[in-house]
Amino acid sequence: MPASSPNDRPMPTHVKPMLALPGALPREADRFGFEYKWDGTRALAYVSRGSLRLESRNLNDVTVSYPELMPLAAAFERWSAVLDGEIVALDEDGRPSFNILQHRMGVVSPDAAARLAREIDLVYMLFDIIYLDGRLVTGRPYTERRELLEGLGLNGETWHTPASYPGEGEAMLSSAREAGLEGVVAKVLTSRYSPGKRTGEWIKVRLRSGQEFVVGGWEPEKETAGKAVGSLLMGYHEKAGDDRLVFAGRVGTGYTDRDRSDLREALERISRADSPFTGEVGRRDTRFVDPVLIAEVEYHGWTGEHHLRQASFKGLRGDKPASEVLLEEPTG
Ligand code: AMP
Repeated sequence: MPASSPNDRPMPTHVKPMLALPGALPREADRFGFEYKWDGTRALAYVSRGSLRLESRNLNDVTVSYPELMPLAAAFERWSAVLDGEIVALDEDGRPSFNILQHRMGVVSPDAAARLAREIDLVYMLFDIIYLDGRLVTGRPYTERRELLEGLGLNGETWHTPASYPGEGEAMLSSAREAGLEGVVAKVLTSRYSPGKRTGEWIKVRLRSGQEFVVGGWEPEKETAGKAVGSLLMGYHEKAGDDRLVFAGRVGTGYTDRDRSDLREALERISRADSPFTGEVGRRDTRFVDPVLIAEVEYHGWTGEHHLRQASFKGLRGDKPASEVLLEEPTG
């Protein structure tokens, strides 16, 4: 006899989120459930008898940054659960904005977090469930987990359970385009939840190319006589843990004025004399930095020299180590 029945498993304390592989809309759409891809930051919620803890993709406790999500705990007064989802900041038109979200991420002072919560609206988009009341459901198929999640009816002022649409890839992708969203995520209906894995059973289908890059240097803005950042030099690692960066190009647009001056301050603190890139990339006014900051970038393909074309900055993110930033799609 097993020591414990499947219904009295303790709540797991740290689960690494399951990840998606980039790809095109799958041809056998009927095998997949389609969800919108929310442009925010991943968070797992551990809710138990009126208390809530949020953990980021790299297992950091980020609860303090998002005080408006605390009332979600009240929905779990008597039971406990581990939920998976994406925290999304909304712009004034109610559209997800990663640029706005970066001002909420990484805030550690409760006072600052409370002030920012009054200024910047966000919603926690719940899309999966890992544990409910003594039952670990990672081994159950996606369809069953979705039924369980939807059955909880978690829709409050700052959290929501968006629907999943089996077979509806084309329609979902075109409504994502109309709504200005990033794309869709296709999930195999029979797939289990594989913590920390990119199994290919979740496929992220993006409408615009985009990924994270490591910032390796910057060039000052001419108009402000160098008081602000004009462009960032982006790179990626050939393989995880590599010391040096492969140069991916310069990104000179997409910044707000505040980004340009905030970045300047952050970059000053990590400046270094030598280049972190393999090969020559600098100009005379290039300043190099330690390769520790990760920027989210959107772009339209690659040039013949394997540099980003029409790249635009979306924000900094701190939810994984820079040493793990690799190229996601071939450079042409
Ligand atoms: P990317 O950040 O482009 O690598 O895309 C993968 C990320 O998209 C995931 O790690 C999640 O943080 C996020 N995401 C947004 N919406 C979903 C969704 N519906 N299902 C799974 N992941 C999602």
